[in-house]
Amino acid sequence: MQTGTRAAAQEDLNLWNIVSRQFDRAAATMDLPEGLLRQIKACNAVYYVQFPVRFGDRYEIFEGWRAEHSQHRKPTKGGIRYSEMVTQDEIMALAALMTYKCAIVDVPFGGSKGGICFNPKKYTRDQVEKITRRYTAELVRKNFIGPGINVPAPDLGTGEQEMAWIADTFEALTPGHVDSLASVTGKPVTQGGIRGRKEATGRGVQYGIREAFKHKADLKKFGLSGGLEGKRVAIQGFGNVGYHVAKFLSEEDGCRIVAIGDVAGGVINRDGLNINHLSEYRDMTGGLKGFPGGKDLPGPRDVLEAECDILVPAALENQITLENVDRIRTKMVAEAANGPTTPGADERLNQRGVMIIPDIYLNAGGVTVSYFEWTKNLSHIRYGRMEKRLDEIYRDRLVQTIEQVTGRTVADKQRRELLKGADEVDLVNSGLEGSMQNAYREIREALLADPRLGDLRTAAFAVAITKVARSYMELGVFP
Ligand code: GLU
Repeated sequence: MQTGTRAAAQEDLNLWNIVSRQFDRAAATMDLPEGLLRQIKACNAVYYVQFPVRFGDRYEIFEGWRAEHSQHRKPTKGGIRYSEMVTQDEIMALAALMTYKCAIVDVPFGGSKGGICFNPKKYTRDQVEKITRRYTAELVRKNFIGPGINVPAPDLGTGEQEMAWIADTFEALTPGHVDSLASVTGKPVTQGGIRGRKEATGRGVQYGIREAFKHKADLKKFGLSGGLEGKRVAIQGFGNVGYHVAKFLSEEDGCRIVAIGDVAGGVINRDGLNINHLSEYRDMTGGLKGFPGGKDLPGPRDVLEAECDILVPAALENQITLENVDRIRTKMVAEAANGPTTPGADERLNQRGVMIIPDIYLNAGGVTVSYFEWTKNLSHIRYGRMEKRLDEIYRDRLVQTIEQVTGRTVADKQRRELLKGADEVDLVNSGLEGSMQNAYREIREALLADPRLGDLRTAAFAVAITKVARSYMELGVFP
């Protein structure tokens, strides 16, 4: 066995250990009391439950978790995943990542995560509904859900439909709660959701990459130059996040999406894939295999080895490991998934001069817009409803004044564009863009101020730890 292969075989893929190592690396550069660091790092509470669900005359037992990593801010927040790979350590680690993510984008929540160990694709819609409602009832019973306590959201294997069932179950079990819609985010727009939430993680990834491309001198160190136009992008994952990243980067930034992969394989085309055609083809056939606009890639991880400028892992954790890192040919890894790069691979990529935009920053768009949804639910009014018309009236007056002063008429198309006030989705996207820009600048400045941090991930952890520490110190410890 070669050394590289042996190292790969011995690599620790436990996500809790991985996140702990990332935390320790940043903590070692910080001047904070040991006990405080231990408090921040620990996962405060985990609820583990086994619950039965009846399908006809048959019962099945499911295992579920909800972890609250940090309650320094409330509610705690984070998605719920349905997958056969769910374990307690994974849920605790993902809850920890939520704490740091929220701190980085200044979303005033603690971190949480939940999961049920099953493959939803093997169950009917009715069965998934029963499982979801029963799990929610368990959370209500133990006070692990509520607008001011713990607010779930979608994650792997869940989406708007599951969130609507959760909201409805919560409402049914806690009647009279005027704020009960704020007990979960990522709901359908017609059920108290917010426009732009579904696309939010993908949008956030786009805004984060755009921001990185504004700092030309930084990029140069990694062999990158110019803007996003024409950059070759490979994406692992064609679910909600991967699809939106592909769509936005190709349609709005002129990137060339050269490869896309999913659980069953992938497709590659050096001239660029047509994302709309690929998505229609996937909806029709159930997969990417045989797509006429490209060549098939046999395995789910092959896409990671496609030659590109930006590699976007947008699927699962532990995808870039010591086993495949030396075959990865990119200048930038933009982590849209949670924990896609193992510490060993991370170190190797850093040594090779590959830029990594870390998950705890880059995929925070989802929770940022969840925060907007939560505040919308608490205020009981859609963003923009009060001011949109007034805004249009002011704009109209401005255009009329310009016409009077110049003696010229503004063309109809331009007038329409100038007069349009902001809709909910415009406000959401502007709030998201501002959050992503500020957070990137803060991380970048932390790295410039302390070169010992070494890379953006460690700098992002340092920024997060500083903010959480401040909050704990201000709160003190309840006896
Ligand atoms: N599951 C998403 C994440 O990992 C979103 C969490 C949320 O919106 O609360 O960030």
